[in-house]
Amino acid sequence: MIHAPNLPLPSIADACTPFDRQLTTPLTKQRITTLQINLGKKCNLACTHCHVEASPRRTEELTPEICEQLIELIDRFPQIATVDLTGGAPEMNYGFRPLVAAARSRGKAVIVRSNLTIFEIDGYGDLPDYFAANQVRVVASLPCYLADNVDKMRGSGVFDGSIRSLQRLNAIGYGSDPALILDLVYNPPLPIAPEKFALPPDQASLEAAYQDYLAREFGVRFNHLLTIANLPIGRTKQFLQRHGLDQAYTQFLADHFNPATVEGLMCRTQLSIDYLGQVFDCDFNQMENLPARDRAGQTLTVARLLELGTLDAIGCVGTANFCYGCTAGAGSSCSGAFGLMGGLTSVKLYGIQRAAILAICFRIIWECWG
Ligand code: SF4
Ligand code: SF4
Repeated sequence: MIHAPNLPLPSIADACTPFDRQLTTPLTKQRITTLQINLGKKCNLACTHCHVEASPRRTEELTPEICEQLIELIDRFPQIATVDLTGGAPEMNYGFRPLVAAARSRGKAVIVRSNLTIFEIDGYGDLPDYFAANQVRVVASLPCYLADNVDKMRGSGVFDGSIRSLQRLNAIGYGSDPALILDLVYNPPLPIAPEKFALPPDQASLEAAYQDYLAREFGVRFNHLLTIANLPIGRTKQFLQRHGLDQAYTQFLADHFNPATVEGLMCRTQLSIDYLGQVFDCDFNQMENLPARDRAGQTLTVARLLELGTLDAIGCVGTANFCYGCTAGAGSSCSGAFGLMGGLTSVKLYGIQRAAILAICFRIIWECWG
């Protein structure tokens, strides 16, 4: 192929089949059941893979006005079964406790995406008891069960702090009381060479390995492990670009596109709201500034949804090539790989079976992180 002299060469990412062309039917929105709210970008950590690019220096957060509108939305729409609070560290951003209170008083399930170490910051020490009192489901990132690997990605001392926080949650019933759910999240390390590109290992097997190791070494119990692929956005994209790998990584994800994952994509049944009250199909689209649009092509806000009197105003989900991250291999979403929740932990494994699975998982983790 000959390129006109002044036109840029197509990148590999541009050259890979556009995500929407992989779909045999448009990615239509289904009835909304989850409201995910990103309360802001303030966080006590600044992890290398963070798609939000959160840090202690960021100041963007929910305003009282938008918080009031969100409470009205929760109040007016019984179809919202789950309110999912994320950030940044959602607990540090304006509106966290009012939103928990509003959702719980109306019988909604509440999820908090917590980094755990926030419990050790002045002013936040009561969070475990607060979560338990409100039966908040805790979803906590722990990208590896080995300290060095977690500290490399999240900062020095984060692994030890996370373990102390998990022990505190366990001590008040998380991981054992059926009403107090504690899930952990795994994502692969950021690759520094194409041969290190990796999708998450099998979720059920890895969950068994995590449970075995964390129980044995630290006495920690949890309910589920959710495995999530790294999407090439935010700091992950910057990291890949610094290593000249962003295009090749997107191609890697595209090469592993699995059409069976499309039906269960989280973007089909949720609205994602940012701290300004703007509406997106998911937190990833939010960070890439790809707004949700109604059937007339107009962008939406919480105020507009209240005016329209419906949550189901969006025809199709907006997609981009980073969507390959959700649809590669077994698929990823904020609920982990599709159709695997519970996995092998609900199956009794003994002796050689369990040892073999754990050995495979340790090898996968070692090869990915090594
Ligand atoms: S990944 Fe989570 S804990 Fe880390 S900086 Fe981002 S929001 Fe904070
Ligand atoms: S990034 Fe994932 S969740 Fe978001 S629109 Fe794309 S496929 Fe859906």
